[in-house]
Amino acid sequence: MNSQTSSHQNPSAGIYFHIPFCVKKCPYCDFFSITDLSLKDPFLDALFKETALVQDGDFSFDTIYLGGGTPSLYNPSEIGGLIDSINRCFSIQPDTEITLEVNPGTVNRHRLEAYRKVGVNRINIGVQSFQQGQLEFLGRIHSNEEAVETIRVARQTGFSNMGIDLIYGLPGQTASSLILDLKKAVSFDPEHLSCYLLTYEPGTRLTRSMNAGRFLPLSDEQTGNLLETTVAYLDVNGYMQYEISNFAKSSEFISRHNSKYWNFTPYLGLGPSAHSFFPPERRWNHSSLPPYLADIENGKPPVAGRETLTRQQQIMEAIYLGLRKTKGINTEKFERFFSSDFLNMFKDALETLTDDALIVLDSNHCRLSRKGMRFMDSVAKVFVNAGAF
Ligand code: SF4
Repeated sequence: MNSQTSSHQNPSAGIYFHIPFCVKKCPYCDFFSITDLSLKDPFLDALFKETALVQDGDFSFDTIYLGGGTPSLYNPSEIGGLIDSINRCFSIQPDTEITLEVNPGTVNRHRLEAYRKVGVNRINIGVQSFQQGQLEFLGRIHSNEEAVETIRVARQTGFSNMGIDLIYGLPGQTASSLILDLKKAVSFDPEHLSCYLLTYEPGTRLTRSMNAGRFLPLSDEQTGNLLETTVAYLDVNGYMQYEISNFAKSSEFISRHNSKYWNFTPYLGLGPSAHSFFPPERRWNHSSLPPYLADIENGKPPVAGRETLTRQQQIMEAIYLGLRKTKGINTEKFERFFSSDFLNMFKDALETLTDDALIVLDSNHCRLSRKGMRFMDSVAKVFVNAGAF
């Protein structure tokens, strides 16, 4: 199938590659990642085979996202090979957004230049912080200087669509410490910024340290204040918030790929632990390498499970994901998709939430208010509890 012959009746879908290797496991991380780099070659062979094995009907794709893990542990010809294999096996549109996540400490000028030449047109740099103490707390492999150097070189080598990831909400973090990071990030004029709240996921080393009383996490109120500081600082500096953790210089630079997750658009996930979503079906790959590699060896897609979302589950997902976006839930689209009137379906919940100033209803959208952003989970629960739909 190629882009010229594909049907365009379906929305453009996205492809995600999960590359599971990291130099070192960060203590807060609960993504599937491993540090045994000796498996890099067999894994890459398997990923090529998976690409050829998977079939997803008549979809055309306009985003490819290489994430992980640390995809920049693969050299440019390997990354270019993956992009080529996707082009051979799927209908890929000519203006496809191709994002590579890179971690400082794993790339240099030559490598970045070569990634661009093999087709990567968007780079997302996992900086997390520009402050050495915070980088150490987060267990990152890179220094502040390496983060700065990676950003500079990415620009010099011609990346004109660059994202920087930051983490906020570290124990003891104050608004002024957060602003130091934001100020430094903004000084490089990136097209995109992601500011993720540090979370304490079950089973991570960081959560164990916290539970052992080695540090005191910030309260919800403190992290809510830091989110407001972030939104206000970035707004003044020309970045619009379009999702709870994501900011872009203009609508042109909104992450096209990640928007598919929030917009309920189909996506294909390749690699261990990757999820795919072709409504109403969701499926997910094995989250460990041995069964993943074994299935592929036997010519089987490495799928660990699948579920067909009920209408109720789809509605709840559309609400959860829609609330994450600053534009909110598109009620017209909702009505077209579910053939039901949104305002009528959630009449009581909407009344309560509006009275509490947690949501705002405006033309065709239902979105969180500034106050509601702090209580997203509670707001979503009010919709869940709204009952039969
Ligand atoms: S580099 Fe990223 S994926 Fe790897 S361990 Fe750290 S946070 Fe997890």
